Amino acid sequence: MIPSKTLKLSLKSLREFAKKRLPDEVLIDLDARDECPMEIVRHMCSPDKLGIQLLFIPEEFGGLGGGAFDVYCICEEMARVDLGVATAVLATFLGSDPITVGATPEQKKLWLTRIAEEGLLFAYGATEPEAGSDLGALRTTAERVSENGKVVGFKISGNKQWISNGGVADAYTILANTPSGPSWFIVEKGVKGFTHDEPEDKHGIRLSNTAALALDNVYVDADRLVGGVEGQGLNQAQAVFGYTRLMVAAFGLGAGWAALDRAIPYSTKRIQAGGPLSEKQGYTHKLIVPNVARLEAARAYIEESAERIDAVEGSLNTEGAIAKYMATEAGNLAADASIQALGGYGYTHEYMVEKIKRDVRITTIYEGTSEIMEMTISRDRWQIHLKTRGQHYHECAKEFEVLRARHPNVGADIAALAFHALAEVMEKARTARLTRHQHILLRLGELIAYAECAGALARRAARKAENKLNEKANQRFDAVALAAISRIFAREAALKVAEEGLRWVIGAEGVSGAGAPGLEASLGLPAIHRAQADLISDMDFVADVLYGRAAKRGEQAA
Ligand SMILES: Cc1cc2nc3c(=O)[nH]c(=O)nc-3n(C[C@H](O)[C@H](O)[C@H](O)COP(=O)(O)OP(=O)(O)OC[C@H]3O[C@@H](n4cnc5c(N)ncnc54)[C@H](O)[C@@H]3O)c2cc1C
Repeated sequence: MIPSKTLKLSLKSLREFAKKRLPDEVLIDLDARDECPMEIVRHMCSPDKLGIQLLFIPEEFGGLGGGAFDVYCICEEMARVDLGVATAVLATFLGSDPITVGATPEQKKLWLTRIAEEGLLFAYGATEPEAGSDLGALRTTAERVSENGKVVGFKISGNKQWISNGGVADAYTILANTPSGPSWFIVEKGVKGFTHDEPEDKHGIRLSNTAALALDNVYVDADRLVGGVEGQGLNQAQAVFGYTRLMVAAFGLGAGWAALDRAIPYSTKRIQAGGPLSEKQGYTHKLIVPNVARLEAARAYIEESAERIDAVEGSLNTEGAIAKYMATEAGNLAADASIQALGGYGYTHEYMVEKIKRDVRITTIYEGTSEIMEMTISRDRWQIHLKTRGQHYHECAKEFEVLRARHPNVGADIAALAFHALAEVMEKARTARLTRHQHILLRLGELIAYAECAGALARRAARKAENKLNEKANQRFDAVALAAISRIFAREAALKVAEEGLRWVIGAEGVSGAGAPGLEASLGLPAIHRAQADLISDMDFVADVLYGRAAKRGEQAA
């Protein structure tokens, strides 16, 4: 972990650099020309310049030894600038991950030190034309080359698809099938038989270079096999998913807020029907406030998960999946709403929100699609549900009933309702064997993510009230505002879990389904409906906070 002061300085330097070198006109131009600004990317990664790469390299190899929380903060900030450039930097994070996790001490020393000292750019080569979400379908092969009965190297052949930095990296980690299974190899640019295609012409992140790779009998020495043991590749990839998905979650969060931070000031200046749009409840309560609530719920989950990864609680794959799912889906919704919030202007290039929307779209696709996240979340929590005989989420609810006693205003009681309803829906799915329908399994993944994020946000609001937030945590909202945001999100989550849960159970069982009436009664729907009371006044308050009116109203009242 790096000291808070160092992190703040890095964030400040990044903001200043972006302001100077990547103003809107430059971004719009690069986006139109579909160009990756290599000089900017190199500047960001050079140790004697911005040196962002140093953050995630351990100190023993010349880096700063940043933890998951530090990396989340930097990723959010990069995404606020440009998601294409952020992706170019992320590719080195991803590309070096198999090394960080699985390499031998000699390999770590060599490659991590080179990243720190030379600003080496990496690419992460997992995806193939036939192997996307299902990496098990991998076709790239690595054949052993032996001399005198000893393996001295490998010959790699195959094709990789959609590789970020594919055409510009200095080195690549390539996943290939050895006789003992998938393994990572480090391949440097320019070696014989290794080529890349022209950059893809993409919908968004046009400032990032994405290219297909071709490997035709590419020879690498045996010491390029990451970890020196074949067949560890998928485990090594799995081991960092919690961490890498948090980074993409931070991208969704940063991009979503970047869009809203354009819509909010715009709406104070845009006069329609005799007043600014920011004064119109039908505008703020549809386009701005719900998106703020979803993004902040995702933030709460990201921050909690980052703290847990830093406390070495494990790889937290499911938590990474929940964070990525919520933050990237919320980022997409927020960016889309921001186009609407700017009306016709939003639909033009000049106002940037349409670019942000195109850019953020990738975050629900790469590093695991949203559907794969739903599956990951659901499968894991399903096992916990079974192991605890259906009590897991009822137990979670109890934590929030206790929290409510200390902090009656943070939405903990409503989060508890969401957890109880979730436990009931899952139990019904178990007894009626509904997860034989893949759709039900994935929908459960979504409901789980909403309930757990409602819990995380209520906890975050309580910590804020107690002045116990991580000192690196985002401090945009004070305790009262965060509590109101938490209540808004918890209401959405509880209603979603109960009503959509009921819908899918009935939908899967048919009219004759015996369990639906019983389930309806067990979900606590009347309490969840009653919990919607004061939703509008909370939304009014959050809108006032966002537009700086809350303080003024307070002064007037005083
Ligand atoms: C701009 C860009 C940059 C990228 N950068 C990199 C990179 O640097 N390195 C790298 O290795 N990869 C990279 N990728 C690849 C990315 O990770 C994959 O595109 C992603 O994992 C999805 O794989 P796919 O495109 O083959 O889609 P598919 O796996 O074919 O999925 C298509 C659709 O089907 C759904 N689906 C898939 N499987 C299931 C299932 N079992 N059940 C239900 N639904 C399912 C998916 O959710 C998706 O909606 C990048 C992609 C893009 C577009």
